[in-house]
Amino acid sequence: MSNNVTLAARHHSAIPRGVSSATTIYPERAQNAEVWDVEGRRYLDFAAGIAVLNVGHRHPRILAAVAAQLERFTHTAFQVLPYESYVELAERLNELAPLDGPAKTIFFTTGSEASENAVKIARAATGRSGVIAFAGAFHGRSVYASALTGKVNPYKAPFGPMSAGVFHAVFPSEETGISVQDSLRALEFIFRADIAPVDVAAIILEPVQGEGGFHIASTEFLQALRAICDKHGIMLIADEVQTGFARTGKMFAIEHSGVKPDLIAMAKSLGGGFPIAAVTGRADIMDAVPPGGLGGTYAGSPVACAASLAVLDVIRDEKLCARANEIGARCVERLSQFAARKDLTPITAIRTQGAMTAFDLVGDPEKNISPADIVARLRHHALEAGLIILSCGAEGQTIRLLAPLTISDAHLDEGLSMLEIALGKAVSA
Ligand code: PMP
Repeated sequence: MSNNVTLAARHHSAIPRGVSSATTIYPERAQNAEVWDVEGRRYLDFAAGIAVLNVGHRHPRILAAVAAQLERFTHTAFQVLPYESYVELAERLNELAPLDGPAKTIFFTTGSEASENAVKIARAATGRSGVIAFAGAFHGRSVYASALTGKVNPYKAPFGPMSAGVFHAVFPSEETGISVQDSLRALEFIFRADIAPVDVAAIILEPVQGEGGFHIASTEFLQALRAICDKHGIMLIADEVQTGFARTGKMFAIEHSGVKPDLIAMAKSLGGGFPIAAVTGRADIMDAVPPGGLGGTYAGSPVACAASLAVLDVIRDEKLCARANEIGARCVERLSQFAARKDLTPITAIRTQGAMTAFDLVGDPEKNISPADIVARLRHHALEAGLIILSCGAEGQTIRLLAPLTISDAHLDEGLSMLEIALGKAVSA
């Protein structure tokens, strides 16, 4: 019989260390917010496959939609034999996307593809090549997406040179103390030192930085970027790969600001666990690329399209945007109680948009303990208590909570109590 230890040994001899796993828990089965490992131990899953399972593990409506599709056909390649579910899903996203005017949608397979294809489309539409992204951003690991990503280690360092024409400004957030003015000034410097605005095809950003530490872009900042884009004919791309599909209490996080981007990159929770990504954009921009310039063999697979249509139905019918707000509020309430206690590991900077919730841990410089060390301890104790959580942030100092939006109140509270136990242990470990 396999157990976690024997599987980890096989794992490490068969698989390169470049793909690192946050745990050594090998799941046997999962349902909604619960996972059971190969040893029969139960966990609550506040990682949700890195923000993929907003509708939880194995939602019955998604399983039914996929099962029905499996009975019909599994792959034809949309570029050979197109099918209705791809068209219908595009129609649904065109309706939902907060864009100015009619929209069109194309599908891909991963978030990296979505972000880089959004740039391809922006380049074709503008006839320009430059792109501005932000420090701390994560847009993927493919060669071009890692150029967009704003973190050297571990995403860029051994893989250079990075694609030319990508420039990074600082991202404003309360947690880092970088103001909107600081960030806009950094943009001005890029325009003066690196590239003229008339050569910039796109500005790409996450409305809430995900891997970078759950930093929420303010309405003021998004409006300022929109104005800069309008002034210079630059496309504004919202990377909603992590923020999308009700996670933040709206279908897309940028809706909180009222700002309308030109293009939106989507992935993760769209497919509810089945690999699919999308770019939805203003129709005139989307049609700038000539036939054959976009696509992918598996892009918009029939099985993933069937799953995605069911995901959109579940989000609507189970009112998951409203539920995200309830979950986020409950998390913040409990986290604030933890922060007030002297017997727990100190936590700071509690923040949330909908159910995209995070807090920071502080190190102890006198004892040479970094925040990331405390985060590692906390994650270890959380797992021991039965809770799967992820970290993020420039220095790995942040814990992010991404429970499925379909989680019950009982499981949410149970998970937060497990976190409380872990915070109690990490302080003394
Ligand atoms: N953009 C954002 C905002 C992401 O969070 C991620 C994945 N964490 C990506 C792009 C890349 O997605 P993928 O790993 O599916 O390529």
